[in-house]
Amino acid sequence: MRIRKILIANRGEIALRVHRACQEMGIQTVAVHSTADNTAMHVRLADESVCIGPPPARDSYLNMAALLSAAQITGADAIHPGYGFLSENANFAEMVEAHGLIFIGPTAEHIRMMGDKIAAKDAMRRLGVPLVPGSPGELTSLDEARAVAAEIKYPVLIKAAAGGGGRGMKVARSEAELEEAWRVARTEAKAAFGNDAVYMEKYLDRPRHIELQVLADTHGSVVHFGERDCSLQRRHQKLVEEAGSPVLSAADRDALGATVTKALKELGYRNAGTLEFLWQDGQFAFIEMNTRLQVEHPVTEMVCGVDLVKEQIRIAAGEPLGYKQSEIRFSGHAIECRITAEDPESFAPSPGKVEMYHAPGGLGVRVDSALYSGYTVPPHYDSLVAKLVVHGATRQEAIARLQRALKEMVVSGIRTTLPLHQRIVADPEFQAGDYTIHWLERFVAGQRG
Ligand code: ADP
Repeated sequence: MRIRKILIANRGEIALRVHRACQEMGIQTVAVHSTADNTAMHVRLADESVCIGPPPARDSYLNMAALLSAAQITGADAIHPGYGFLSENANFAEMVEAHGLIFIGPTAEHIRMMGDKIAAKDAMRRLGVPLVPGSPGELTSLDEARAVAAEIKYPVLIKAAAGGGGRGMKVARSEAELEEAWRVARTEAKAAFGNDAVYMEKYLDRPRHIELQVLADTHGSVVHFGERDCSLQRRHQKLVEEAGSPVLSAADRDALGATVTKALKELGYRNAGTLEFLWQDGQFAFIEMNTRLQVEHPVTEMVCGVDLVKEQIRIAAGEPLGYKQSEIRFSGHAIECRITAEDPESFAPSPGKVEMYHAPGGLGVRVDSALYSGYTVPPHYDSLVAKLVVHGATRQEAIARLQRALKEMVVSGIRTTLPLHQRIVADPEFQAGDYTIHWLERFVAGQRG
């Protein structure tokens, strides 16, 4: 199957990222955009573009009929969903294939399975992947929640089965807090996902978030590209990511990689995926799997010298991976800062006109951004405006490079989180790699340590 033209069902930096891979592969691109994005960079650079609706995402970037029509009108062979929007929508993947197009991602069946976090944990349990202790499945009553919590011991976390973006997740530190956590998690889950099914996990007090990047072809080959440490989070959302993790040994990585690749082989998984784990006291515990490209994929690309988007496209075209696990090498260290259009202290959104944009450069610096001087950041979408990624021979060199790149970068006219990143990277605990998933919340609140 030759792929000659790809419709990119996304916007912003990730649409640009996919476009770049296509260009280098000699593949034509079709950009789609809402009326708020008429002058966006992804539209300017694509070979063709189609306006698919008004600014609200539900009327444009989430409008399946408009996306499929755009693909058919332009004669696209395949659709790349990026991340967010429809990237983890099994119905969309099914519809794309029903229209005779290639969906660049996993099968609808696997997207559906992993999108239900209870089903995902079930599958991983069967496949021998270690899990965070918790309820065996959905919690059907408050009484059942009480019984499970008594067994696994407080603190516990109530999580939405359809969860994502840290929503529908509530901690109960004691039985007195359980009823409230149960109620709030279910209400939030219902509002955010239209599904109030919840489950329970032991709330870990000092884990790191460590995830593994995998690729699987349609010929039964599964490989991993090592781990990313995404412990620096605010409200369960990642801000800074590293590859590799400052705390993981090569032996730990190999062991986790062997467990995960074996499991995905058994599952018959295809294309890119990420398995997320919490790591505490030397133990890994699976929390969820993302069946798409992740925001933080560039740090893996920097240490492995691989273009994950090109690999996704090759796999979707039916090509075999063509290399073995033993041929994947890890070189040096990479760090990514997610820079958003938000106030660096209050995190209030700050859309508007960018007076001047200047990207840092030099050896080992990569900026994935759709910004340009004079561009207006619309208020309708995710606030991520740039990913600053650095690579160094060692973690220490990567940190020094990140510090100087953060100093060079200019985004004026709107507020961004650049100053916050400068403070994080200058912190001695960050520099020592000494942090857990709770570190950043305390840092932002001014009570680090
Ligand atoms: P979402 O799909 O909403 O992103 P995840 O299950 O991936 O939810 O969890 C997001 C983040 O929440 C994790 O990276 C971690 O920081 C925190 N978290 C999730 N489960 C637990 C747990 N059992 N104990 C402590 N923190 C957790």
